Amino acid sequence: MKKKILITGAAGFLGSHLCDRFLVEGYHVIGMDNLITGDLKNIDHLMKRADFEFYHHDVSKFVHVPGKLDYILHFASPASPIDYLKIPIQTLKVGSLGTHNLLGLAKAKNARILIASTSEVYGDPLVHPQKESYYGNVNTIGPRGVYDEAKRFQESITMAYNRFHGLETRIVRIFNTYGPRMRLNDGRVIPAFLGQALRGEDITVFGDGSQTRSFCYVDDQVEGIYQLLFSDYDLPVNIGNPHEISILDFANEIIKLTGTDQKIVHQPLPKDDPLQRQPDISTAREKLGWEPQTHREEGMKITFDYFKGLTQEELHKSEHKDFSQHIVK
Ligand code: UDP
Repeated sequence: MKKKILITGAAGFLGSHLCDRFLVEGYHVIGMDNLITGDLKNIDHLMKRADFEFYHHDVSKFVHVPGKLDYILHFASPASPIDYLKIPIQTLKVGSLGTHNLLGLAKAKNARILIASTSEVYGDPLVHPQKESYYGNVNTIGPRGVYDEAKRFQESITMAYNRFHGLETRIVRIFNTYGPRMRLNDGRVIPAFLGQALRGEDITVFGDGSQTRSFCYVDDQVEGIYQLLFSDYDLPVNIGNPHEISILDFANEIIKLTGTDQKIVHQPLPKDDPLQRQPDISTAREKLGWEPQTHREEGMKITFDYFKGLTQEELHKSEHKDFSQHIVK
């Protein structure tokens, strides 16, 4: 009898890669998604498999799964600054009500649950790099507050179920992750820059580009999550790649990678855009023996190849050309 795992956000970027991984490992996978930001195209290749089922469902509403369940991975959530502005209430609901429903399901099924938290719980961090022991610097009422606070609540309620109900829980704090199946038009920097290069548009660097990020390739992220699920460590663990780069340097890397001669243009920095972000991954190294293996050059090449494979129609269907809405009072 195969072990059964429920993966929420299954049609999204990370969720779909997690479905692939658990199928390879011999699990029966139930993928769940309400398809607000997810895309069935990401799991098309799984739909005919006997060991994969798809439930079109919003986890903010009561979640019913018949039969036994061994594991739950909660990866449903909008995950880009533009999404938070477009669908702020859903962002809050999936992190709070959705997490509550899934913790209840885990308790009823006696399943272990891993929830996807984020480096956004650190807000615009005042310590660098960010360790799990840092409590963060979040603007509760800013445009990112709907995501950051939902994720902070998510961590709280998960630990409450762990301590009060003795539920087996795991919490991963995901730092910027990239790879094939990222949504082209979600406004995140990597699809934005690659899309611009492929369409022959200027590369839009927000602010002066001195803000930093540290990008983790999706296979490394999935491996870290896999290791964490099966570890006995139930406090939050940062999973990300500590190799940090400024957004301006990254824009220049993209121009080199894509072999285009795009101009860099500057646009205003969105409100509460963190100035620097780099994971301290000593907990992951120590507790899981994990660290990223993929260099940015290699990961970005694979990602670029994926975006090159998109159709012209997909490439030009950009909902987010106007970033002015990004600047919130
Ligand atoms: N960014 C940019 N140009 C773009 C999109 C994003 O300069 O067209 C910047 C953004 O301001 C941020 C960084 O790239 O400083 C990463 O943004 P992203 O939305 O990918 O994720 P975040 O880490 O901010 O959640």
